[in-house]
Amino acid sequence: MTDFRERVAAAYDVESFRREGQRLVDTLADYLAQAERGEGLPVLPWAAPAVSVDRFPAAFPEEPTGDFAELVARVLSGSNHLHHPRYVGHQVTAPVPLAALCDAVSSLLNNGMAVYEMGPVSTAMERNVLRWMAARLGLPETADGVLTSGGSLGNLTALLAARQAKAGYDAWNEGAHAGPPLAVLVPASAHYSLSRAIRVMGWGQGGAIPVAVDERFRLRPDALGPALESATRQGRKVIAVVASAGSTATGAFDPLEPVADFCERHGLWFHVDAAHGASAALSAAHRHQVRGIARADSVVWDAHKGLLMPALVTAVLFRDGARSFESFAQEASYLFGDTERPWSDVALRTMECTKEMMALKLYACLSVLGTRLFADAVTESYALTRRFAERLSQAGDFQVPVPPDCNILCFRHTPEHVPPEAWDALQGRLRERLVTRGDFYLVQTKLPQGVFLRVTVINPLTTDADLDALMEALRTAARR
Ligand SMILES: *Cc1c(COP(=O)(O)O)cnc(C)c1O
Repeated sequence: MTDFRERVAAAYDVESFRREGQRLVDTLADYLAQAERGEGLPVLPWAAPAVSVDRFPAAFPEEPTGDFAELVARVLSGSNHLHHPRYVGHQVTAPVPLAALCDAVSSLLNNGMAVYEMGPVSTAMERNVLRWMAARLGLPETADGVLTSGGSLGNLTALLAARQAKAGYDAWNEGAHAGPPLAVLVPASAHYSLSRAIRVMGWGQGGAIPVAVDERFRLRPDALGPALESATRQGRKVIAVVASAGSTATGAFDPLEPVADFCERHGLWFHVDAAHGASAALSAAHRHQVRGIARADSVVWDAHKGLLMPALVTAVLFRDGARSFESFAQEASYLFGDTERPWSDVALRTMECTKEMMALKLYACLSVLGTRLFADAVTESYALTRRFAERLSQAGDFQVPVPPDCNILCFRHTPEHVPPEAWDALQGRLRERLVTRGDFYLVQTKLPQGVFLRVTVINPLTTDADLDALMEALRTAARR
């Protein structure tokens, strides 16, 4: 037992924590300096999955080795460097470094916040951060919601509430088969998490009725009526319509006002998956793109996409805050006691029971850095993307299928020496070349017109010059 006490004393030793912490911050700051400059650092130090696995064997010693610094060095050098100005890949941002310090605070305090007493500060911050976000979207004072682990879970949380509100029977308690089969109208361009949520609810593949999109990949309001009729013919009761504010593949913003009108006319729940694009509401130049979002019954907004936060911080907002209690209607008496649905016991309304102190980083960064940075980051990243799209369109050897609505852009390189039938394969090869060399990190997507490269200009450190260099790197790679 003495042995154990000694081990505990060593593991929880305050002075070694101070020492390791100070050393770690220095290491991270040096890393950040290098990543932000980008010079001499591959964006992604590409390695095959099997190679990575061998680098981190589960060869855990029984006794302390004390070699945290060596491990951190390997973690840093092997990771995808999101602060590198040439990271233009998936919609995951280069977080403001202050948020990383908040995560250290959160991890140490570990105030899990299933119930208020387990996280009094994070519960309070969460409430007020959500109110701030709701107000940015123009939602009324009655709005409320929760923070949860990602847009995917956020969409499920919102659709569960929609089901309780609109199914006409208690599907939560009696099961999905206790009434007519249900369905949601979902734009063909929507994120896969929506059809996944619908399957989780037990409605199967037929529970997502696709709504056609136009040539800019935006939901066609005139297709809503036919989709509703087709669902009814299939014996489905439609309860909700989803619109995307920033679709994943092309960043298209669906027209929200006509969808809101349609929902009102037919008594349907209106859910906006604004995981990517809700932040447009912060920018005076782009606020109009989410016009109508204030009429949504529910909205999902990922702070780890448009608000410079590390993963995961997702807001699920309900126009009528009371709806937030409908997603997970059962109660656990040992946790929540006898009180009637207190807002302050957040786990009543989230899939999570114990949850990270998600609000802390967002609250702290907004408080300390001010809101202007976040608004400008949206405006600048959208402008940068638009300028890049213009240069690509004018170049002659690149194609842009649709002008960008936000900071997501699809394009492809179409050099003269490659015949059009080989363009699809070329994009894949170019991407592989640039990514495995570590020059850039970008992704690709398949559109009806073929295979396209896809960038998200989500790192505030990326400049026009970096994007010009991307064009040149693609030309060079194509000539090989
Ligand atoms: C990213 C995204 C999601 C999924 O969000 P996660 O936080 O990655 O789970 C859902 N919908 C849209 C439109 C997205 O862009």
